[in-house]
Amino acid sequence: MNCGTPLAAVALACPECNQLVHAAKLEELANAARACEAAGDTPSATNIWNHALEFLPPDSAQAAAIRQHLDRPLLPSSENPAPDAKPNWAKRLGPLGAALAFLLGKAKFLFFGLTKIKTLFTMFASIGVYWALYGWKFGLGFILGIYVHEMGHVWRLKQFGLRASVPMFIPMFGAVVSLYDSPKDAGEDARIGLAGPMWGAGAALAFLIPQLFAPAPIWLALARTTAWMNLFNLTPVWQLDGGRGMRALDRQQRLLLLGLILVEWWFTSQGIFLIVALGALYRLFILKDVPPQGDRGAFNEYAGLLLVFGAILWAIKEKAIL
Ligand SMILES: [Zn+2]
Repeated sequence: MNCGTPLAAVALACPECNQLVHAAKLEELANAARACEAAGDTPSATNIWNHALEFLPPDSAQAAAIRQHLDRPLLPSSENPAPDAKPNWAKRLGPLGAALAFLLGKAKFLFFGLTKIKTLFTMFASIGVYWALYGWKFGLGFILGIYVHEMGHVWRLKQFGLRASVPMFIPMFGAVVSLYDSPKDAGEDARIGLAGPMWGAGAALAFLIPQLFAPAPIWLALARTTAWMNLFNLTPVWQLDGGRGMRALDRQQRLLLLGLILVEWWFTSQGIFLIVALGALYRLFILKDVPPQGDRGAFNEYAGLLLVFGAILWAIKEKAIL
């Protein structure tokens, strides 16, 4: 469909007889707009009607008809039904379901809204600010940091003789490495997961080296962002690296890590530690995947990484690095 062809409006109406000059063009546009409407493509149809308006004298009857048509909301097409805010279970429960859905929505907002989402939002907002401030230099460093993190996973996989894809970048998300073989146990899986943040810690520290010789805010911005992204990845949930790391730890080790995370949160006042703590709480009390025997090496790596990222974020915040 030829929706939205650029068209130039020249003479709108013949000044002598007020006859419309673009009658054929208008007919064509109206047909195209109706075809878009029939196909449920409302935005394109609106675009075409607006184009048609450019060809019509504003006071003409045709222009008035199109404007009236645009003011009338088009019926949503069968492919794009209007979204229903309530989940299915809530609909089945009737008014009680509606009340429950409302309360759950509120509770979720209170629980995550005050800690998790706010911290996430401010961090991503600061990435945006850094990017705007330092432009391509920050963008390049940021992507490089992600690449180094992924290469950490690749390095460990090679060590264990496991086949994997090269890192694939997903815009606005990061990067992933796909595994073709399975790790032999939870300990190996944990070390593969933790190797990303380990190399990431190296990248964050590397960004601080030029700061020692030629101080500039961009180095601190890159070190802070890289440390933050890697620390976020240590949250022990979903497919995040921390989720794999935690799988190899027993209850006592998980409790120790939670304690360490909370101490670091108290010491650095970095909200990101609260996100990691929430994940650790979940792995301690809700998800029953605790192995009988914890992996000492994985615990040491996990705890060491938490300390390194805490130290980097603290040093930047306290301007200990000048
Ligand atoms: Zn990773």
